[in-house]
Amino acid sequence: MKAITLALLLITVVQLAAPALAQTGLVDSDTIFREVSRRPVRPDNSARIEALLKQMTVEEKVGQMTQLTIDMVTTGDDQGVKIDEAKLEKAIVKYGVGSILNVNNQAITVDHWHGIIGPIQQAAQKTRLKIPVIYGVDSIHGANYVQGAMLFPQEIGMAATWNPALMRTAAEITAMETRVAGIPWSFSPVLDVGRNQVWPRFWETFGEDPYLATVMGAAFVRGLEGEDVSSGKHVAASLKHYVGYSLPLTGRDRTPSLIPEHYLREYFLTPFAAAIKGGARTVMVNSADINGVPGHINKHLMTDVLKGELGFDGFIVSDWDDIKKLVTQWRVAADEKEATRMAVMAGIDMSMVPLSYSFSDHLIELVKENKVPMSRIDDAVRRILRVKFELGLFENAMPDNSLRANFGKPQYAVAALDAARESITLLKNTNNVLPLSKTAKVLVTGPTADSMISLNNGWTYVWQGSEPSLYPKEKPTIQKAIGSKLDTANFRFVTGTRIVRKANSPSNSNPTDIDEEVDIAAAVAAAKDSDVVVLCLGEGSYTEHPGSIADLTLPDLQLRFTEAMIATGKPVVLVLSQGRPRVISRIADKVAGIVLAMNPGNEGGRAVADVLFGDYNPNGKLPFTYPRSPGYLTTYDANIYERVMDGSKLPTFQPQFEFGFGLSYTSFAYSDLKLSSDSVAANGTVSATVKVTNTGKLAGKETAILYVRDEVATVTPPAKRVRRFAKVTLDPGESRTLTFTLSPEDLSYIGLDNKPVIEPGEFTVMVGGQSAKFTVR
Ligand code: BGC
Repeated sequence: MKAITLALLLITVVQLAAPALAQTGLVDSDTIFREVSRRPVRPDNSARIEALLKQMTVEEKVGQMTQLTIDMVTTGDDQGVKIDEAKLEKAIVKYGVGSILNVNNQAITVDHWHGIIGPIQQAAQKTRLKIPVIYGVDSIHGANYVQGAMLFPQEIGMAATWNPALMRTAAEITAMETRVAGIPWSFSPVLDVGRNQVWPRFWETFGEDPYLATVMGAAFVRGLEGEDVSSGKHVAASLKHYVGYSLPLTGRDRTPSLIPEHYLREYFLTPFAAAIKGGARTVMVNSADINGVPGHINKHLMTDVLKGELGFDGFIVSDWDDIKKLVTQWRVAADEKEATRMAVMAGIDMSMVPLSYSFSDHLIELVKENKVPMSRIDDAVRRILRVKFELGLFENAMPDNSLRANFGKPQYAVAALDAARESITLLKNTNNVLPLSKTAKVLVTGPTADSMISLNNGWTYVWQGSEPSLYPKEKPTIQKAIGSKLDTANFRFVTGTRIVRKANSPSNSNPTDIDEEVDIAAAVAAAKDSDVVVLCLGEGSYTEHPGSIADLTLPDLQLRFTEAMIATGKPVVLVLSQGRPRVISRIADKVAGIVLAMNPGNEGGRAVADVLFGDYNPNGKLPFTYPRSPGYLTTYDANIYERVMDGSKLPTFQPQFEFGFGLSYTSFAYSDLKLSSDSVAANGTVSATVKVTNTGKLAGKETAILYVRDEVATVTPPAKRVRRFAKVTLDPGESRTLTFTLSPEDLSYIGLDNKPVIEPGEFTVMVGGQSAKFTVR
């Protein structure tokens, strides 16, 4: 009876979840995860797929497995890009290429996209079997390759919101604006868990915790794919980069990792596994190498684990040029034909070639020479056709003009501003220097104060996000947003220093940022004449190898500039717009306030200003450990300071700021942590309740993060692990009791045999400074 009631209650909660969350003021990770990770019911297209497959020649099948970049069917650059009929004919009609990707250098308008996608699909209609092309782009933080689309915080910022409901909404808008342009496939989300803070793609991740990444990732996928991916309003997701890409030993992009399988499963596979279970349609492969095996030939991970164990029935796409790199970079194959054989046999279904016909030519030969069996080719093509059918491309692959009204809706800007505000994390606020008074005299300065680039980072209009002229003029930078809140007499903006891109061209693949002084002396003088200094520091934009750095410390010029500001004796508030936690220990103790913006997107200027002046009460919490020193990078779960070695305590673990940390302008207190039982069977569940009270004077949001520690285990147990979280909105004086239910899965870990195990013994539950113990029998 109890079970039935619970089931009914759950169904009701699930059905109402998205709208109800906003009304109830509670976003609970477990409820939303159940909803977004449920696999939608999809029509069975196997009869149609088999009928088509039977008619296909080897060449047509291999064509489906080939993905070329846009330049292979167009001429012209940037805004002038247009279809080249001869190239189009060769790619789509002669080679029967099944997929095209990317943008030619920079974002283009919806009309312009229609002028590209339309002819591509018309060309596909000229082929014998009229199989539509699947076009894909990197819609990473919004439809960032469609001019005028709404841009959201990058994933690291979305993670700081601890709000998967917002993530889902942002992804729904992203899907809609991508699909309006006629594009049915996005290469997102990034589900790599960001456990190396120097890695130049750190900001593309949801941070260091696998549970947070799992919940946010599943919400991202559900937002992109919806309940019905064929609705014409959604796009297929591509989970990337499967798997273990984010832990390069050197910290540089696309360099080797060493990850034992039990650890890979514990920390890196989880977000992928959940999204696959939820029905994600495509997966992109890790460009690097783990344990000496490049991702693109890892048969165990692609075929045995992903397609076998996890039951993935969509298709696997390679990453850019990665079959060729098996020869040139990884040197596991002597030539490209052998590399093609190895990759396809390991499980690659589609090759992002992207700039030649070599993959097709080699694979056709390999099939004819019986070096790749037709069964493998058929498996790959079946998967690709399945996704094309599910997307409704066979019914209509042409851009749909009737969707246009769904582009650029005013409510998208509201959602983006909400997300940007929730992503801002207040890290330091000595003597309540913040919020600033609107009658104070404020100097705004620093290299990121007037930069849309630093607010957005890579994958913004161009690959590197580095082209200032492409950013919308009407969106304020931080200094402009602050200026609009103050009387002119109280507001000064002085540049101070700037970040210069050595070669400022969107097509340049290896730009390097350098910091340059502009007018530090003028900034010092202006500071002396102000009540407070808002000093905006951080990074320019980057992704992949151009973003690799040798030192995580903030550039010396920015540190010296900060010291000059501190020396004026005026309170200094740092605003950090950056994609990774640049080390600031030299200045952190001497400034009065620190606001971490990371990469909040185009609404970020407004969001930062709202937080600085108290028009918005900050509630972001760190989704990573902020290091104090570039030589001591670690994650919260690896933090073993409470343990003893040789009878004495290890030196205290002191990051600059701990994982999960974030201040508010109000205060919250936790009390009454209670467990449903102090002893549970290994297959049982245990619930924890805890009361959260807003003890301050302002309404605010608080994320309660529940950790569990397995006190003793056969494999060294983590210091603690996030197992649940809930974000709650509370008025002053208001309390709410939160309930978290832990399942056996939450008490297990991956043993040395690579299988989950729950070991009897003592467990500790921790939330908001409270803790309680129970025993697993
Ligand atoms: C990146 C992928 C991206 C692809 C297509 C690659 O270089 O690693 O994340 O999806 O390019 O743009």
